[in-house]
Amino acid sequence: MRIKNGYKRPPIDKGTTILTAKPYAYVLRSSYRKDRCDYCLQSGKLSKCSACQCVYYCNRSCQQDAWSIHKTECPKLKKVLPKIVPDMARLMTRVIIKLSRGGGDETGYYSEKSYRKFKDLMSHYSDIKKDEKRMEHFMCLYNILNELFEDEPIPSNVELLAIYGRICINSFNIFDLDMNSIGVGIYLGPSIIDHSCLPNAVATFEGSTIIIRTIQDLPCLDWSQIRLSYIDVLKTTEDRRTELQSSYYFWCNCKRCEEPELTTRAVMCSNKACTHPCSPDEGICENCGTVFPDKFKETFDEISDFTAYHLQSMKDTAYLDVSKVCLKKQEGVLHPLNVQHVQTLQSAFVSAISLQHWEEAESYAKRLINGYLTYYGEIHPLTGILYLMMGKIQLYVEKSKQALETLKIAKSILIITHGEKHTLVRESLKPLLHQAIMEVM
Ligand SMILES: [Zn+2]
Ligand SMILES: [Zn+2]
Ligand SMILES: [Zn+2]
Ligand SMILES: [Zn+2]
Repeated sequence: MRIKNGYKRPPIDKGTTILTAKPYAYVLRSSYRKDRCDYCLQSGKLSKCSACQCVYYCNRSCQQDAWSIHKTECPKLKKVLPKIVPDMARLMTRVIIKLSRGGGDETGYYSEKSYRKFKDLMSHYSDIKKDEKRMEHFMCLYNILNELFEDEPIPSNVELLAIYGRICINSFNIFDLDMNSIGVGIYLGPSIIDHSCLPNAVATFEGSTIIIRTIQDLPCLDWSQIRLSYIDVLKTTEDRRTELQSSYYFWCNCKRCEEPELTTRAVMCSNKACTHPCSPDEGICENCGTVFPDKFKETFDEISDFTAYHLQSMKDTAYLDVSKVCLKKQEGVLHPLNVQHVQTLQSAFVSAISLQHWEEAESYAKRLINGYLTYYGEIHPLTGILYLMMGKIQLYVEKSKQALETLKIAKSILIITHGEKHTLVRESLKPLLHQAIMEVM
């Protein structure tokens, strides 16, 4: 335990809120602009800003609170209609407006005495300059910004690129209760936190407010040891490292990346009685010694390519029939914990829900759980929400006893990742639990 200034810093239990912060700047994703309030991000009955006809608010109060920033942005959004300003250009616009009004001095505290300002955020300026894809994106944004600001003063190219870099490296996806990414925001204090593919903290949101909570017991609150995951970790080590390198310019050396991966590409053993996750490259099961049939590797590669192609095509919308074709092809070859198999189950689950095929959705949820426990871990918002959704479905299909058991597990997780006071726990989990208890009685 560290001793600082003569006193011992107390240990931190899992499920402790270690930081809550309002965004420095944020935007609602344009794909949600007609469904959610541009200010508080809640869904419901909305009214349009009559001036720009671009953004929607719940009520007068949200509109008034949004006005200090929107009044400068509003004529710009209106000017380029019917074009919708891309999210990144809008976020940059908001940062530029803030900086022009002294926002450079705004401080975001992450402990009693430590804070960050916008200029303290890493911009990875030289990495971005060498990055063709990002530079192309920047040039496109640069043209949009010039159109939006026209004759008004705008930061120099160098300053704009630094702003762009700071946003790329430090922005957080803002998630709704179901973990859909509905917005993007810059949070000064929380941007101090580094990445790990095996994090000890998670970020959840209430509207645009970020809440950082621990998911492991820690000896003390040492900010240099707190880790969030910047990416979805349901991936092979190679894919995680590639994504982190290309998005954040570092090679991940976290514990998970350094350890051998046993299951991400695993195949089933040819011996039906053996459940060992085998490597597709070895040709033999190292557990029972069964030799794989000829051409096994070709079969695996074909299934893997087929799955990758269809998962990519379903990136925006999952289809149940396509997911089922993939699952059928994977049968007997991909191990239940193979990442591609788990991803396919995910798309089958999501599409079954959107079609309201509840029985099917429940069976996919059950099959997904081991994958979630393996890759996200037992205490993770996504694992908790999977149990919550499964419990909800079980209530629909009148499996009350099972629903109660499932929702109890959901509670044990969400109480740590989100906490008692979070809207998800108060307004979603607790009423469902109550319903399940009443039905079982
Ligand atoms: Zn609102
Ligand atoms: Zn407006
Ligand atoms: Zn890693
Ligand atoms: Zn075997």
